[in-house]
Amino acid sequence: MLNSSDTISKQTSEVRASPGNAPRCKILVLFGTRPEVVKLAPVIAELRKHPAFQTIVVSSSQHTDLLAPFLKIFSLKVDFDLRVMTANQTPNQVAAKVLAALDAVLEREKPDLILVQGDTTTAFAGAFAAFNRKIRIGHVEAGLRSGNALSPFPEESNRRLVSQLAAFHFCATSGNKKNLLAENIAEKDVFVCGNTVVDALHFILANRQSSAAIEKTIGETDHLKRILLTTHRRESFGAAMTGNLQILREFVEKQQDVCLLFPVHPNPNVRGVTEEILANRARIYLLEPLGYADFAALMKAAWLIVSDSGGVQEEAPSLGKPLLVLRENTERPEAIESGIAKLVGENLERLLRENYADETWINSVKTIKNPFGDGTAAKRIVEILEKTFATNNTNSTNKRMSK
Ligand code: UDP
Repeated sequence: MLNSSDTISKQTSEVRASPGNAPRCKILVLFGTRPEVVKLAPVIAELRKHPAFQTIVVSSSQHTDLLAPFLKIFSLKVDFDLRVMTANQTPNQVAAKVLAALDAVLEREKPDLILVQGDTTTAFAGAFAAFNRKIRIGHVEAGLRSGNALSPFPEESNRRLVSQLAAFHFCATSGNKKNLLAENIAEKDVFVCGNTVVDALHFILANRQSSAAIEKTIGETDHLKRILLTTHRRESFGAAMTGNLQILREFVEKQQDVCLLFPVHPNPNVRGVTEEILANRARIYLLEPLGYADFAALMKAAWLIVSDSGGVQEEAPSLGKPLLVLRENTERPEAIESGIAKLVGENLERLLRENYADETWINSVKTIKNPFGDGTAAKRIVEILEKTFATNNTNSTNKRMSK
């Protein structure tokens, strides 16, 4: 029972119903990390426009500190907070807590559908908890595949497992759809909608101001070519990260018209080595993790983005910015195939040097069409749900898992 659990904080006394007619469908939206908030915020906003839906927002708080500014910027209110975060947890510990805590919410709220996003342990455990209660699952950003079950770990396997459980697969690209069809997911359940991160980015750029502090940094570096760096993924930890940071430091030292802007992820595996290699160097700016409006402003102001992030691979094309992907493989080949991004592998030093000397590629990406959509993905997702739920009230248990 919900009341017996001290791990859940119910944030509102009454879960909001959509205005107008009585809702026909209760949708629970689950997130736990920064990119999930960014990518689900447009879907929640769209769901709330439709009287057919009652939306319940649940945070696992898999990330805590990083999450708060993102909730704020999208004006998101959490209905239930599962509070699973403690330091140095294993994916199993996160999954176990999400399963137990979410189960109590599912028992109480009895949603008709749960929406999960992407590839986190929160997304997988949320889908599995819903499956065990015969609740239908919609997977936002379905069908990404790196082809290696252990890289990225555990994300690649998380998303494959969610695909086995979901009733609705909302893909960003036709390539994602192809991946799902190759795994025998029924075509009628797969929808190509674009990536909701494009919607989120458009919203932020049109509606939110970046901070005075970030504008000051942009002003101070106006005469320089800005490299914007993010790196935080497990695969990058250790020797790979040390090597990459050293190469970037040497490049900035050598090229006096270049600066490096790096919002440093709080993970100690990133902080330690960053301090050691990059602190107190000319034209290297080590920043705290940024709110979305500030990060978007820096992406816009960048000469080149260097990143191992998934979301940034979709955002760089939205802004026409060249991107070096700090990874060996990517589940977002569209960014590479379109010509906007280059996969770094072992070649960071060479790629920096070559593209500095000849800016043909850097200049060419401005005009390339964004392969991740046009900013209407959330609308499409909600239209599909609207169509499905418009005529049937699915509250009865025996309809829950049928597709
Ligand atoms: N981001 C941000 N501030 C930062 C770094 C990243 O707002 O300091 C945003 C970024 O624009 C993207 C999301 O966070 O939308 C990506 O999150 P992350 O790289 O942590 O996760 P991934 O996308 O790799 O799963």
